[in-house]
Amino acid sequence: MINKLRIAIQKSGRLYEESVQLLKECGIDLRNVKDRLKTESDNFPIEVFFLRDDDIPQYVEDGVADIGIVGENVLFEKNKRVTVVEELGFGKCRLAIAIPRGQHYEGISSLRGKRIATSYPFQVGNYLKQYNVDADIHEISGSVEIAPGIGLADVIADLVSSGSTLFMNGLKEVETILKSQAVLIQNDSLNELQLQFLNKLLFRIRSVKKAKRSKYILLNAPNDKLKDIIALLPGMKSPTVLPLAESGWSSVHSVLSEDEFWDRIERLKDAGAQGILVIPIEKMVL
Ligand code: ATP
Ligand code: ZN
Repeated sequence: MINKLRIAIQKSGRLYEESVQLLKECGIDLRNVKDRLKTESDNFPIEVFFLRDDDIPQYVEDGVADIGIVGENVLFEKNKRVTVVEELGFGKCRLAIAIPRGQHYEGISSLRGKRIATSYPFQVGNYLKQYNVDADIHEISGSVEIAPGIGLADVIADLVSSGSTLFMNGLKEVETILKSQAVLIQNDSLNELQLQFLNKLLFRIRSVKKAKRSKYILLNAPNDKLKDIIALLPGMKSPTVLPLAESGWSSVHSVLSEDEFWDRIERLKDAGAQGILVIPIEKMVL
């Protein structure tokens, strides 16, 4: 019986750093990761395989790796039998259709009969079919953004994050096919022990993710404004309130989530809070 988890992550590229970083933040020490095909951890029953991202869904389906980190864009393109266990919140991008900037566009029917260069023929084909648009899909494996410039295609479908690559190549985005981020995937026949390890890992990943979305906040409040200020703070249970050395003042500690952060800070100031400190949280175990 296999008594460890084998995880496949990208060998190098856009997902590599953050995949290794996530394991590190989960307290998993990896031996010497540079230029290796695989490595192990001394403090968690995990072995790491470094692979091309395109191969990860297949390896996980086959059970060569038990779990993997891969972009949803690759996962959907490969269409393998694996289960998504967790969205990881990094590697965010979208699969978009882009056309030469000067070209006229009147909606998706404008793509009829066009030559579309992409590394994602399956998803692009599905998308066009959904709108009953017939086009000529050319699969190419890289540098898709230069295809229109060299006359290989009329339009492209490629991954975009900021849009600066498209801009530099004289292209504009006209349709979004898919929004993507990195996800943790799992093979469907893990043994009992591996499932235990996976749950342990997931628990840690969720604590790290939660912490990233939250900030620890400390502030000073005059006692007569305490009630209003506390009402603005959610906290894990309720805020901690401690008396300051200066009479009539208290120190209030709480946790704020990133989405509501700026809005709350402004309202706290208006309510009379002073000396507001905001501190990152490393782990958050609920
Ligand atoms: P490999 O050598 O592993 O095949 P690759 O060249 O296919 O690498 P990368 O460019 O490193 O892949 O991208 C890996 C993943 O990062 C993508 O599949 C996607 O999920 C994500 N990603 C995030 N932002 C972008 C972006 N702007 N362009 C491309 N991919 C992005
Ligand atoms: Zn790839």
